[in-house]
Amino acid sequence: MKKTLLTAIIALTMATAGARDYNFNEMTYSPKATEFLLNTNDDAQGVTLRIYDAGKDGKMLKKVEMKRDKKIAGEWHATIKGDLKGKFYTFDVKYNGNYMGENPGIFAKAVGVNGRRGAIINMAETNPEGWDGGRRSPLIALEDHIIYEMHHRDFSIDPSSGIQHKGKYLALTEPKAIEYLKNLGVNTIHILPSYDYGSIDEEHLDQNRYNWGYDPVNYNVPEGGYSTNPYDPATRIREFKQMVQALHKAGIQVVLDVVYNHTFSIDDGNFQKTCPDTFYRKNPDGSWSNGSGCGNETASERDIMRAFMMASVKYWMEEYGIDGFRFDLMGVHDIETMNAIADMVHQNDPNRIVYGEGWSAGSCAIPSEIMGLKANIKRMPGIAAFSDDIRDALRGPWDGDDKAAFLGGVPGYEESIKFGIAGASQHPQIDYSKVNYSKEPFANNPNQMIAYVSCHDDMCLVDRLKASIPGLTEKDLIKLDLMAQTAVFTSRGIPFMLSGEEMLRDKKGVHNSFESPDSINHLDWNNLKRYPQVFEYYKNLIALRKNHHLAYISDPKFNRTSTAGALEFLPGGDCLVVYRYKNLNELGDKWKNMIVILNGNNDKRTVKLPKSTYTIVGDGDVINEDGIYTLTTDEIIAPPRSAVIMHD
Ligand code: CA
Repeated sequence: MKKTLLTAIIALTMATAGARDYNFNEMTYSPKATEFLLNTNDDAQGVTLRIYDAGKDGKMLKKVEMKRDKKIAGEWHATIKGDLKGKFYTFDVKYNGNYMGENPGIFAKAVGVNGRRGAIINMAETNPEGWDGGRRSPLIALEDHIIYEMHHRDFSIDPSSGIQHKGKYLALTEPKAIEYLKNLGVNTIHILPSYDYGSIDEEHLDQNRYNWGYDPVNYNVPEGGYSTNPYDPATRIREFKQMVQALHKAGIQVVLDVVYNHTFSIDDGNFQKTCPDTFYRKNPDGSWSNGSGCGNETASERDIMRAFMMASVKYWMEEYGIDGFRFDLMGVHDIETMNAIADMVHQNDPNRIVYGEGWSAGSCAIPSEIMGLKANIKRMPGIAAFSDDIRDALRGPWDGDDKAAFLGGVPGYEESIKFGIAGASQHPQIDYSKVNYSKEPFANNPNQMIAYVSCHDDMCLVDRLKASIPGLTEKDLIKLDLMAQTAVFTSRGIPFMLSGEEMLRDKKGVHNSFESPDSINHLDWNNLKRYPQVFEYYKNLIALRKNHHLAYISDPKFNRTSTAGALEFLPGGDCLVVYRYKNLNELGDKWKNMIVILNGNNDKRTVKLPKSTYTIVGDGDVINEDGIYTLTTDEIIAPPRSAVIMHD
């Protein structure tokens, strides 16, 4: 397996004319000696390696000048004899007579507290008992993914969670957490950034600070704040692996949110201290380009950054058993790099999921034609993008929390809803000129679209509904919430939900909770008792998707040869979208056709149907696959603000 991957990487490296074959193994430990290696710009004048007895402060044990590689100008080496296990190290690179400052290198795999020094450990000793290299049962098909986006702290920090290791990797090893996720039915956990980031002081975890973690420091080390001991370099690594192990054992896959598009700091960052100006893009006037909206943007199109991203993704797969990747602000990266990564990820398993935000947060210093944008997804066939089309058509536009759309009874979003139901793929019944953002299908097939109505960004669904629909009663709030997710989970795209929506979570109206306290971000597990019908609906909705998953088969070659499971839109109206998955029985399903009615209006609507005997399985309040009631008819009353699901 490794050989094949390596071959692929070599082939890719060679395909880029003149590219250096970067070796990112900066520290290789053995009991007899530890080897160090660092990549710098070619004009580096020297690299000083220091060995310490602690991850911070402590005594310097050794200071060594590294030697320039005989063939590669920007590669430096040093070997230190003796057993250095448990010690720490820094590099300090000299340019133009000045040292850039001590740092752990760009590819540290273990670090001390707050990631300021690299740590010398024996990686094999970080493996938990029974670790099998992060392997798991074969991955489910792409279209069967049900993604649950979560933050370690949100999920378990509140006492009501009943989870012991609150806010830690180990929370996801506890039976209570695992059983909860299995019971809900999600099969892919997407964890918010979990590599070492900068905004939480790991020396003062008692302050209980909160952050999403979109401020990378060391890309290839788990964040210390989620471990039980950020001072001991092996602990965070072992506990992260325990988390992956427990989730895999439960048949749940793990997706890592990766944020290669920017770093916490330029001048105080490892990239800049090691290879000045090489990892970041600049504007023509010499200022830093800021396509990330976070003060800088990395340059994926350059050899070293491309090689770095590929090596990093590969490392998380091989060392930690990570199953898929979500690229933050993928639009900042270039298409060639993203395709090279997707090819590598899919080398041994085409069902590994790769998706990203198909936009940037500001203008980038590369042409939009080569950016990893949603509009360019057709040129990135192994990658999916979030559909802001269906998201905003449901909840309302991104530029105003008080603006409503379909869920608020505002007409004009019907074609955008249909666009999302069809998985952003070509469908003859969609008028693309009326779609809110995409004026043509952006996906080659529905597996390239992530269907969602909310994520960590912006308001969560409950807050958005309250903010955009004045005077909403709790009863209607719940109905609209359930209808929104019904659209998501009956879409042909890959469904994605924010953790806690199934508990009717809210964030007290906070729009951007990236550093809000736990009182805003935490899940209140008492809500499961307050709104048991909400959890029950989500659970049954997910089960319905799974049980009739053939309805959502999105393999293009399949759809071309058969009408079985085909998607057809039936006549609707303002804020009324009706669709049918046809001839499911030809696929072995007990149901022939399944119909979904989404009525965003605050009054009931009569919907004309092909005459048949229908069994209603979803009435807006509950889903029951055994049937709520049956009737023979050619029309049905769709209740206000509700989703109806039925079959014949
Ligand atoms: Ca950190």
